[in-house]
Amino acid sequence: MKNSISRRKFVNRTIGAGAGMLIVPAAAGLGMQSKNILSRPLIITSHANDTGKNAMEAGWEILIKGGSAVDAVEKAANIIELDPEDTSVGFGGLPNENGVVQLDASFMDGKTYSAGAVACLENIKTPASVARMVMQHTDHVLLVGTGALEFAKAWGFPEENLLTEKARKIWLRWKEEMSEDDDWGAPDHLKNIMKKESYWRDFPDIEHHYGTTNVLAIDSNGDIAGCTTTSGLSFKINGRVGDSPIIGAGLYVDNEVGAAGATGRGEDVIKSCASYYMVMRMKDGRTPQQACEDALQMIVERYKKVNPDFYPREKFVAISRYGELGCATMNGSRNPQMSVMTDKGYTRFDGTIAYKGK
Ligand code: ASP
Repeated sequence: MKNSISRRKFVNRTIGAGAGMLIVPAAAGLGMQSKNILSRPLIITSHANDTGKNAMEAGWEILIKGGSAVDAVEKAANIIELDPEDTSVGFGGLPNENGVVQLDASFMDGKTYSAGAVACLENIKTPASVARMVMQHTDHVLLVGTGALEFAKAWGFPEENLLTEKARKIWLRWKEEMSEDDDWGAPDHLKNIMKKESYWRDFPDIEHHYGTTNVLAIDSNGDIAGCTTTSGLSFKINGRVGDSPIIGAGLYVDNEVGAAGATGRGEDVIKSCASYYMVMRMKDGRTPQQACEDALQMIVERYKKVNPDFYPREKFVAISRYGELGCATMNGSRNPQMSVMTDKGYTRFDGTIAYKGK
């Protein structure tokens, strides 16, 4: 892709940046050598589409004016949440099995070691902002369901319908297709005829039930923040909470090291504490790219003992405090990408497929 760069090219290009480059000593106990600051400020998102680009540009506007990583991350996450066409995050996200959109989000500030999150939040379009409020205005980390909604309303977030027509029709299609043993769908004698109708052509089977966004940023002070926000696994059981609002699973940020976020099958990410693991790998001296791949390997190794053929689908992103990048996925036919914005402009960064499942 014209606008994308590989991991190696990114490092070479930014190392060559020369004038803006700073040398910082490694923090005590990090196990790292002195390293160049490759790029700062910096903002990335796992969304590599046009909305991801818009989000990066908006976050960048804040960073370049000297704004905080927390503000930049919130702004960028909100842009993705508010895109009605995106069926995996915020407004327009696919609903649970009952047709109700339940959102999960987390926020973490690496400077203050603060975190906030919401889970199963209904009727609020920007759960990332509610998670930020939990982080900054409560002594708690995670609010769920009606409690999270009450909290959001108390702070003036308007209650709104999150189920778009597009998402509702996809959900109805899923209900009709889900089982031959229930009574949803056309009468038996008309089933095959109905499948030729435009309704079925316009809303084909859903192949991917996952989708989330991670936003990670470093501001010009070197402070790091991150957010993970999602409508979660589509058609999930009412009340299911994924990895996105679980600090250490869907997101982890540490000013002294870097940040990491996860998308994909949340159940694996929760059990492996994947984002915390990635940040700890970086603390031990691994690059963000290696840390992403290490975390995927860790998950594969664990399942191998019980089912060698099971390769869950996850995508991990990470940044180091030096501005290095990492992105890797398990499975898939195309290399994963993420959106990156630095003083060199916007680009799509190509990650690796760490494991090809069967
Ligand atoms: N990780 C999210 C969840 O399990 C979904 C996704 O990223 O696709 O809820």
